Amino acid sequence: MNYEARILLDRDKCCKCARCEAVCPVKKISVGEAIDIKPIPCLPECSLCSEVCPNRAIEKIGSNYNPVGLKDLLLKDKPFYDVSGGGVTLSGGEPLLQINFVIELLKLLKRNNINTLIEQQDLSPGKYRSRYRPG
Ligand code: SF4
Ligand code: SF4
Repeated sequence: MNYEARILLDRDKCCKCARCEAVCPVKKISVGEAIDIKPIPCLPECSLCSEVCPNRAIEKIGSNYNPVGLKDLLLKDKPFYDVSGGGVTLSGGEPLLQINFVIELLKLLKRNNINTLIEQQDLSPGKYRSRYRPG
């Protein structure tokens, strides 16, 4: 399974102006007779192609994070968690399919005294479940 951010292109809306190709820092997009989206990872935080598209024909779906980067993002809401008694819920799909990421992120959140919860489908293979200890 691939968890990388993806580029969604609506070919009916695209006028082939090539603005997206011009701004893409990793040369992921080629505009010619057809538009080619290469299997190159996007830069984290980048959404330049969708920002410059005059027709809203291209969109980045999803974002790539490492556990520390996502923890830093989530910590921005810590004042709200502290006041409300809330916390962070990992849901999906099936979050335990990314078990290494989940374990690392939960450790980081616990170290910052943030309540955590996992909402899962219980469809993950036993080898993943055995590494996860609720509580
Ligand atoms: S910027 Fe938008 S309209 Fe122009 S080529 Fe890219 S996807 Fe198509
Ligand atoms: S999101 Fe950024 S890196 Fe990805 S295709 Fe668009 S411009 Fe390129």
